[in-house]
Amino acid sequence: MKTDYDVIIAGGGMAGLITASAIGFYSKKSARILVLDRNPPEEAGKKTNNGWTCGDATSMNSLRFLEKNIGVKYESPELEHPVKGVLVYSPDHKTKVRFEGEGFILNRKLLPQRQVRDAKSFDVEFKFNLSADRLVAENGYVTGVTGRADDGTPFKATAKIVIDATGSSSVLRKFLPIESYIEKEIDMDDIEATGRYILDFEQGKEDETFFTPDYCLIHLDQFIAPAGYAWVFPKGKNRVNIGLGVSKSGLNRRNKKFKLNDNLQSLIDKYVKDNPAIKTWRLSAGQAFDGNSKGNWQVPVRRHNDCMVANGFAVVGDAAWLPRPLDAGGIGPSMYAGVILGKVVAHALEAKDYSQEALWGYNVEYMTTHGYQMASFEVLRRYLQTLTNEQINYGMKHFLSEEDIRAISERRHPEFNRTQMMNPILLLRALSEYDLAKGLRYTAKKSQTLVQHNLAYPTTPAGFVAWKKTLLGEIEETTERFKPIEVAE
Ligand SMILES: Cc1cc2nc3c(=O)[nH]c(=O)nc-3n(C[C@H](O)[C@H](O)[C@H](O)COP(=O)(O)OP(=O)(O)OC[C@H]3O[C@@H](n4cnc5c(N)ncnc54)[C@H](O)[C@@H]3O)c2cc1C
Repeated sequence: MKTDYDVIIAGGGMAGLITASAIGFYSKKSARILVLDRNPPEEAGKKTNNGWTCGDATSMNSLRFLEKNIGVKYESPELEHPVKGVLVYSPDHKTKVRFEGEGFILNRKLLPQRQVRDAKSFDVEFKFNLSADRLVAENGYVTGVTGRADDGTPFKATAKIVIDATGSSSVLRKFLPIESYIEKEIDMDDIEATGRYILDFEQGKEDETFFTPDYCLIHLDQFIAPAGYAWVFPKGKNRVNIGLGVSKSGLNRRNKKFKLNDNLQSLIDKYVKDNPAIKTWRLSAGQAFDGNSKGNWQVPVRRHNDCMVANGFAVVGDAAWLPRPLDAGGIGPSMYAGVILGKVVAHALEAKDYSQEALWGYNVEYMTTHGYQMASFEVLRRYLQTLTNEQINYGMKHFLSEEDIRAISERRHPEFNRTQMMNPILLLRALSEYDLAKGLRYTAKKSQTLVQHNLAYPTTPAGFVAWKKTLLGEIEETTERFKPIEVAE
C-alpha cells in the first residue's frame, strides 16, 4: 500500500527527535520520515506553555551511548554545565551519599534546535505548528495520524509506522484504536507533579549542602517534597535549576496531617526561599532562557509500559512512561529507547513488515539492555514513599553501604546487606528501625525477582500474556505491602 511517509513521529521533543535521527541513521537516509510538533520551529521541543520544564540533568553515559551508536555528539551551548555526580542528603542533612558519575546540565531550550538540525542531516522532514489528535487505523493496523494546524487547517497523513513521542499527556496512546498489549492509562499515583525555576543568584552562605557548582544536590524530605524529592542542580557558579516533585496523594496526606494547604508552587517557593546559599535571585533571562525560567509539569514514575509496540505503531519517551521510577530521570531512557527503536524500525521497513511481531525487538532489546533494572526500581520507589523523615535519616546513616551506593550509581539494585549485619536484638528495641530493615530487605529481594523476570521478557508476542500475569502478581503484592502511610515531619 502506498503511504505518504514511511514513518510519522508525533512529538518532536527529546524522544521524538532522537528516534527520528536514529531511523535516519539506521536506514541510511532511505526512509521518508516526518516529525510533527505542535510548536513553532523556533520553540521546537517545548513541552507546554510553561516551557521546556525539566531538571536538565543527564549522565555522560547516555550522551556517550548516543555518540557511539548514531554518531550524534552534543556540545556547548546545548551542554550547559558539567557536573561530577549527585549528592543525596538525608532530611536532617547529617548524611550525605555521593553518587559519582560525570554528567551535564543541558539547556533544554537550545538542545532541540540542535536535534532538529541533526535530524535534518538524516533527511527527516518537519511540520511544525501542528497538533496530532488521533491515530488512524485500518485492518488492525495503525496507518496514519490526524491533527490540526495552528490556523485550524485539518491534517491527515498515512505512514507504515506511526510513533507516539508526544510526552506524558499523550492522547494518541490513550485512544489507540486497535487491539494491542499496550496499556493506555496510567494510575494517577504513578505521576509526579514537578516544577522548577532557573535562576541567576548571588552566593549567600557558603554551604555545600545547599549549593555547589560541581554536584547535583538532591534533598530527601517528606515535608518539603512529600513522596518525591527536591533538587538544586548547578548551571554555573551563579545559576541554578531548583525545584521539586511530589506525588499528589503524598502532598494531600502531608497537608492533612499538618493542617496545611500547600500546593506544588508554594512548596517550590518555600524551598527556594529557605535555601541560605541562594540569595538575591532573579529568573534567568536572555535568548537561552526566556520563556523557560519558571514552569511546572508532570513525570510518570512507574515502570515503563510493559509493551511498547502494536501493528504499525510504537510509543517512546514519557508517552511510554520511560523515566526511572526512582528519580524521574527520563532523558537517558529516551536516548537509549530512541536509538533502539530507530534500529528496529529501520529493519522493519527493510523487511516490509510493520506488524507487532516485526517491531517486538524494540520491547526485547530495551528491556534486556536498560529497562530491566530501571523498571524494577518501582519497588524501591514505592517503599521510599512510605518512609518517615526519621526512617530515611536512620536508613541512610546505618543501612546504606558503599556497595549499595555503587550499585545505585550503576543503575543496579542495592542489596542493603547491612540490614542483615545489624544485631536483631538491638533492632527489636526500636520497632520502627526493625520494620525499616525488614522493608529494605524485602525491597532488595523483590527487586531481584523483578530483574530476573524482566530479563526473561518474551522474545515474541506469544509469551507476553503469561509473562505479564506473573509480573502483575509480583507488583500487586508490593503495592499491597507498601500502602502509603501518614508522613511525619
Ligand atoms: C520538572 C521536571 C524535571 C525533570 N528533570 C529531569 C532531569 O533532571 N533529568 C532527566 O533525565 N529527566 C528529567 N525529567 C524528565 C524529562 O524531562 C522527560 O523524561 C523528557 O523530556 C521526555 O521527553 P519526551 O520527548 O518523551 O517528551 P517531551 O519532552 O514532553 O516532548 C514532547 C514533545 O511533543 C510535543 N507534543 C505533545 N503533544 C503533541 C501533540 N498532540 N501533537 C504534536 N506535538 C505534541 C510537545 O510539545 C513536545 O515538543 C524532568 C521532568 C520534569 C517535568
